[in-house]
Amino acid sequence: MCGIFGIYDHNEASNLTYLGLYALQHRGQESAGIVSSDGKKLHHHRQMGLVSEIFTRDALKKLPGKSAIGHVRYSTAGSSEVRNAQPFVVDYAKGGIAIAHNGNLTNAVLIRSELETNGSIFQCNMDTEVIVHLIARSKAKTFVERVIQAIQQVEGAYSLLFLTEREMVAVRDPFGFRPMVLGDLKGAPVIASETCALDLINANFVREIDPGEVLVIAPEGIHSLKPFKRTRSAQCIFEFIYFARPDSTLFNRNVYQVRKDLGIQLAKESPAAVDMVVPIPDSGFPATIGYASESGIPLEMGLIRNHYVGRTFIEPEQSIRHFGVKIKLNASRNLLNGRKIVTVDDSIVRATTSRKINKMLRHAGAKEIHARISSPPITHPCFFGIDTPVRSELIASSHEVKEIQKYITANSLAYLSLEGLKKCVQTEADNFCYACFTGDYPLPFPADR
Ligand code: 5GP
Ligand code: MG
Repeated sequence: MCGIFGIYDHNEASNLTYLGLYALQHRGQESAGIVSSDGKKLHHHRQMGLVSEIFTRDALKKLPGKSAIGHVRYSTAGSSEVRNAQPFVVDYAKGGIAIAHNGNLTNAVLIRSELETNGSIFQCNMDTEVIVHLIARSKAKTFVERVIQAIQQVEGAYSLLFLTEREMVAVRDPFGFRPMVLGDLKGAPVIASETCALDLINANFVREIDPGEVLVIAPEGIHSLKPFKRTRSAQCIFEFIYFARPDSTLFNRNVYQVRKDLGIQLAKESPAAVDMVVPIPDSGFPATIGYASESGIPLEMGLIRNHYVGRTFIEPEQSIRHFGVKIKLNASRNLLNGRKIVTVDDSIVRATTSRKINKMLRHAGAKEIHARISSPPITHPCFFGIDTPVRSELIASSHEVKEIQKYITANSLAYLSLEGLKKCVQTEADNFCYACFTGDYPLPFPADR
């Protein structure tokens, strides 16, 4: 997963891009970068780490110009190292190109080996780089035509943002897997993965980039192209369930409201006679609010999260019970002792966290734990940008709900039904990708997985 932001023709382009990335930090914490254009040349700064660590005042001063794009990365393709940090920048015969990608190309390996056979030399091991090579090799006249020729050869999920010395181009793949929106800041066009980035800089939301749309932002103005055959859209349902920030509006729905509705539906499908409903912070919160309001059972913060957890901690030699989870979450004995509880989380992936949390809840005195999950069992891996692990690591790919319940040591476990999920989100027929729950992939995926 990744986050993308860009702004065109504004005096504080790189500064605002920095703020936009700040609002999108939840979409990727591994590395970040900004590329700016001063009209003659591209300037870039990319590093491993968080936006706040990477961009000092000095670093931003070295990114001059009135247009900029930025990226926060959560690696799904390519290893975790600085040469894979984005935006990816190249100089080729016709000038500079910077590219920021959210998604995952399913035929990148194939295209790359063809290009390498024909003499292309790759700088990094990201799938995104093949797009740049395809652009550089295109014989089309304008940059936009070269971009269109390139993307017509790739498959998979891609919300892309390009910057050249002169123009900015936003592209969303025909299925619309990953989100992307257009905003406006006093006449300056803004592109972002989520609307929460527009809010931070006081930009107005204009509209979503349509699936299959190429939006060109140039000195002559903005124009929209639709170079693809129409296909069904397959917007990622997991953006609603877990990934996006609750204050964003996505695929025309407010994320918080969707999550709350999932919790309401979950309470209707799987009630439990308990004393309190406890959210698993932070991602389980909105659904818990829905569950509590529908069931009428009080919501209590039985788990408190420490928001200042760094990457590594020095563990004391003397062992501390539940240390690994406790550093991030603490269970409140005062609330939990002797009580029957429902916990609500958005999803179970490997079930390792749920198991640890439940042990900690028991240790704090919880008498019964009824786990409720506001999405169906994840049985299939994602090839379109969500970092779900290989199939064997997804607990629900090989275990029944009863077995998972036993593994996480819950007194009961219930997932939201697929029908219930669809009821909460669907606006028109079949416009989401539910492959992680069904295995019904909208595109063929690489044979090596
Ligand atoms: P588990 O108990 O399966 O080990 O972990 C479940 C937790 O992982 C849930 O709280 C859920 O919010 C979170 N989660 C779901 N998908 C992702 C993801 O793609 N990345 C990360 N870091 N966490 C995830
Ligand atoms: Mg979570």
